[in-house]
Amino acid sequence: MDAPVPFSRRVAVLGATGSIGSSALDVIARHSDQLRATVLAAGSNVPALVALCRSHRPDHAVIADPARYAELRDALADAGLSAIQAHAGEAALDALVAGQACDTVVAAIVGAAGLSSTLAAARAGKRLLLANKESLVLAGALVIAAAQASGADIVPIDSEHNAIFQCLGSRQAGAQVRRIILTASGGPFRGRSRASLETVTVAQAVAHPKWSMGPKISVDSATLMNKGLELIEAAHLFDVGRERLDVLVHPQSLVHSLVDFIDGSTLAQLGLPDMRTALSVGLGWPQRLESGVGGLDLLAHGRLDFEAPDMEAFPCLRLAWEALAAGGAAPAVLNAANESAVSAFLQGRIGFLAIPALVEDALAAHAHAPAETLEALLAADGLARRFSQDWIHRTTGHAVSA
Ligand code: NDP
Repeated sequence: MDAPVPFSRRVAVLGATGSIGSSALDVIARHSDQLRATVLAAGSNVPALVALCRSHRPDHAVIADPARYAELRDALADAGLSAIQAHAGEAALDALVAGQACDTVVAAIVGAAGLSSTLAAARAGKRLLLANKESLVLAGALVIAAAQASGADIVPIDSEHNAIFQCLGSRQAGAQVRRIILTASGGPFRGRSRASLETVTVAQAVAHPKWSMGPKISVDSATLMNKGLELIEAAHLFDVGRERLDVLVHPQSLVHSLVDFIDGSTLAQLGLPDMRTALSVGLGWPQRLESGVGGLDLLAHGRLDFEAPDMEAFPCLRLAWEALAAGGAAPAVLNAANESAVSAFLQGRIGFLAIPALVEDALAAHAHAPAETLEALLAADGLARRFSQDWIHRTTGHAVSA
């Protein structure tokens, strides 16, 4: 490897109060000579955002909920942090992401709410550390085209896509790649029958056996929708069709993904399940940075197992394969219906098996909506969310906010 070259990056951490945000800030703090968090953004949790401002001293703090602007400004002043500029709302965040405040963006807002800032970073030519998979599922072709036009470097942060990026040395799969194999832990319900999942609780669904993550992605991992979203994400990131994508369940979560080449070589990336590795790759690439994650002791772990995913027990994975094949608005509808269903499940309004049932009905109703432009995709997203609210209302007799 070449000798390290000095570099410095000013980093906007979007979703700073979340699981990925906290891992990113941990890595940034380890490299204060090269990395500085200049923008911290959160959704609505002002106390958590101000606590992060106290430790990381950014130039800007942004709260997405405009109604909380005064609360943020006053809390920063009370904490003696008036030098940090307070902002609120999506437009303010997009402007900061696109402007001079940062050269690198960690896109770690959860859900389709992350699309606008992800697109702003891609259009502005920033180094984009992309954790927000939902923005690629909703509008992947537009995000990738924007990055290509501006010269933005996208480094995938999802551990599987980061593994593939490391195996390829880039985002170009090209003709020399025979197959990309995404690994899946199988989630907390691996090995269970579909019928036995009828009564699982929220606490059981978010208790992931290997990864510590936010609630939405934890439920997605339990339904295997997470792997489905990742298939669509991989198709966009590496420009491969579904015929070159595959999924293998690997319960130890040590092999993060594999790439088969046409010469018979298979490369894999291994490591402990800790997102700081992927974030270090994104922050340092092409250099390697110390991340705080220890090395892998394969003797201590003993074995690596692989098995086929059970699409009968976990229909969300099949639905995502179908949405990828259908193209058009289908992935946007899949994503929006899933976000609504997971939110209702987390609120205790619908059962676990209602998640795939709702997504399947939403796809049947709206997968053929127009999808040529961003406006059309956002309209399909909106249609699917309204459909989902009605569906949940009919099923439970309660109105549910998406
Ligand atoms: P968390 O739920 O832990 O954090 C979500 C973050 O998004 C919080 O900072 C939250 O702010 C913020 N947020 C929520 N809604 C909005 C909004 N409308 N506008 C702006 N910010 C908002 O999620 P994770 O960190 O687990 O996941 C983040 C993303 O990264 C997801 O897309 C997920 O799929 C992806 N990812 C996560 C992995 C993980 O290990 N956690 C692994 C791979 C990908 P607030 O605290 O104020 O609500």
